[in-house]
Amino acid sequence: MTITDTTTELSTRETDLLARIPDGLFIGGRWEAGTRERIAVQDPATGRVIKRIANATPEDGIRALDAAAAAADEWAATAPRVRAEILRRAFDLLQERRADFALLMTLEMGKPLAEANGEVTYGGEFLRWFSEEAVRISGRFGQNPEGTGTMVVSQRPVGPCYLITPWNFPLAMATRKIAPALAAGCTVVVKPAELTPLTTLLFAQLLADAGVPDGVVNVIPTSTARTVSEPIIADPRLRKLSFTGSTPVGRSLLAQAGQNVLRTSMELGGNAPFVVFEDADLDKAVEGAMLAKFRNIGQACTAANRFIVHESVAEEFARRVTEKVQAFQVGRGTDDGVTIGPLIDDRAVASMTALVTDAVDRGARVLTGGTAPEGDGFFFEPTVIVDVQPGSDILREEIFGPILAMTTFSTEDEAVAAANSTEYGLVGYVFTQDLARGQRMIDRVDTGMMGLNTGLVSNAAAPFGGVKQSGLGREGGLEGIHEYLSTKYTLIPG
Ligand code: ADP
Repeated sequence: MTITDTTTELSTRETDLLARIPDGLFIGGRWEAGTRERIAVQDPATGRVIKRIANATPEDGIRALDAAAAAADEWAATAPRVRAEILRRAFDLLQERRADFALLMTLEMGKPLAEANGEVTYGGEFLRWFSEEAVRISGRFGQNPEGTGTMVVSQRPVGPCYLITPWNFPLAMATRKIAPALAAGCTVVVKPAELTPLTTLLFAQLLADAGVPDGVVNVIPTSTARTVSEPIIADPRLRKLSFTGSTPVGRSLLAQAGQNVLRTSMELGGNAPFVVFEDADLDKAVEGAMLAKFRNIGQACTAANRFIVHESVAEEFARRVTEKVQAFQVGRGTDDGVTIGPLIDDRAVASMTALVTDAVDRGARVLTGGTAPEGDGFFFEPTVIVDVQPGSDILREEIFGPILAMTTFSTEDEAVAAANSTEYGLVGYVFTQDLARGQRMIDRVDTGMMGLNTGLVSNAAAPFGGVKQSGLGREGGLEGIHEYLSTKYTLIPG
């Protein structure tokens, strides 16, 4: 692993881009300066503040909901084709402005530029997919069994939605919620993560340019997520809460949503098992491991958390992944050749150190990495640890960083038991060339998603989501728009 010197000065291109990012609250189609002390957004590669933006108060949050509620009827009545074409225009504008969005995500979140570009593609696909779905909202009808009437089943927009997004995929987590909501005919208030609000602000401007009417999308960055969110969630005009983030926050939001029996979608934490059988194609498994573990610097709810490798191939697998990890280049995501950026903040770095220390204290061995390098920014060396012992924190907690932690197994039953020994159930990865075994694992591993011989499953056309404490509902795919629709049944006698 090499660590490049971090360029601390912003380039002219970066300064120009940051100057063009709106810095207000976006409420009812207008940019507002806000009244509180501004939010300081940092570049995690240097720790330096790159922009200060407006910081919503609880009153601002309610005004954003006022705007969403006022725009709701007209947007719901807007022809599906018109909604579809606005979303399609947003997709096209995003392609035109791709370079700005990619650089901005690297600046505020830290991921390498190539990955930020990948996120523009992935995030954009939700706009295209749901522009296509907007005109396919359908119901059904038929005679009732008694033969005395017609039963009509139709779909209606649920109404104003509150969307809370995380910092790890600043664009895609926003488009994955906003696009289906708009396609369904719902208006929204979006609260981006306070660590990475700039991408959402730039995206709000893009949506307005694409023709989204005033009040349909409102954006309220805030440094006090809880106090701003509580009154919105308690307001009877709100009809839906969609959240992506950690399981503890998700639990608390579910409890709040229970008061008004709100519809909810919850994309929560993961603790993905990555199972490598003795008959796996090891080249594919190693390649899959790099993607599943180190994409986004390990900061993804789909990140492989526990490598469960058959004892007969464990040493070879560990040797090969270590070789790859040692070839990574760590640095600021804008710099040429950088493959691993910084973590999001100093708390994340402290958490990596604590996880490695706990695992080593219990008997694990570090093959490479394991510490935070000296210097600016929130970096942690990409790490491989083996012989991780049962009971180690790293097997139970969501790592959310660049640590590949490995255990071994000898029988298929043992692999299944290990894979399922977590309260999470978002995604599992299984590598085997035995098709029958692969199919058994699909049935036996208790997750909402599965990668069979691949380390990357996300796709706008597929239903993303988990079981157990990884969440409720699905985003993307045919299912995604239904999170924003409610079913209405009508009986017409005769
Ligand atoms: P992470 O650990 O990945 O930062 P969080 O669950 O803390 O995940 O944050 C995800 C999103 O939830 C962010 O937008 C954050 O501001 C928001 N958030 C955190 N706590 C609360 C809360 N109590 N109420 C509403 N939103 C919250």
